[in-house]
Amino acid sequence: MPQSSTHDLTARLPNELLSSAFDGLSIGELANAMLVSRRWRDTALDHPTYWKEIELDTRDVRTGPGLLGKVNFFLLRLSRSKGRLLELSLEIVDTDFVDEVGDTFQALLDALNAHLHHLSYLSIDAHIRYLDAFLRAVTATRGDLRKALALLPEPVQLDVPRDSADIDGVRMRIKNAERYYLASAVSSSSKLPLLVGRLHDNCFMQRIPQAAPTIVFRSYLKVKAHDHRTALTHLLLSTHDLAVERLRYEGVERDNRLCRFCRASVETELHALFHCQGSADICSLRDILDEDVARLKGSSAVAMLQCLDSFRKFQYLLADKDTVAPLSRFVYHVLRCFKDEPMYRI
Ligand SMILES: [Zn+2]
Repeated sequence: MPQSSTHDLTARLPNELLSSAFDGLSIGELANAMLVSRRWRDTALDHPTYWKEIELDTRDVRTGPGLLGKVNFFLLRLSRSKGRLLELSLEIVDTDFVDEVGDTFQALLDALNAHLHHLSYLSIDAHIRYLDAFLRAVTATRGDLRKALALLPEPVQLDVPRDSADIDGVRMRIKNAERYYLASAVSSSSKLPLLVGRLHDNCFMQRIPQAAPTIVFRSYLKVKAHDHRTALTHLLLSTHDLAVERLRYEGVERDNRLCRFCRASVETELHALFHCQGSADICSLRDILDEDVARLKGSSAVAMLQCLDSFRKFQYLLADKDTVAPLSRFVYHVLRCFKDEPMYRI
């Protein structure tokens, strides 16, 4: 037995290789391997043989410390599963089981309940005396889950899953409910006008641009310049300093939240970006944006965008992975121009 890592012939092996050397060992052999060194112990504890298929069979040891040790070993292995998918089997057929293990029986029930969510298989063969307790342990969570799912904005009914296909079905229904909720929450919010109608990231190549999926990684989150990415995010989430939002906090009627530069329109996001003629600096920034788009997507793309209304134009520039960086730089500088000018109040 190696006494230190200097004598350990496996010391130079990567953890993955040491772990694969444990493949094929029984759980008893793996438990012996754990005694070799701290590293072997840690690697063995993480090996699937230790935590993936755990069995508690009390038919051969029915009393005393042997039985208690067996239950505790079961609990220890269960605690090493770390939320990974595993299979459990319990054979508890002796009528004196609870008298023998005492408080550990409750610990067993608690552990079953706590790990229920990541079991791919569960088999319990128990004496009729304990069936009720086991049944409560394995259904308590499901009862709470059923209630929580029924309270979702788009309720999901939870039937008792019979196999993995049923579980996949429940997961799909929860996913769809999540998408539906997000889509309806965004479209019904008067505060998030720019998050509605987002386009597919391939929109410039599509003859009729398609809508983006409700849940997808957005191109703008990959904009490298932190300030530019932040400015665009503020604009999209209506946490910017434009009057349409700021004066709302002060209770000013929407029609009176006028642009600080031209005072001719409500100071909305799209007015600031594409319509206001009250600032020469902002007009110059629009020219720079058009030049960037022409360079990246061609002059025909600029001409096409000019035929669209400003909302649609913004959605094209936002969705495309090439134009989103110049758009976010443009948004950053436009918002800076507005910030440098005092808000107009009637
Ligand atoms: Zn204006």
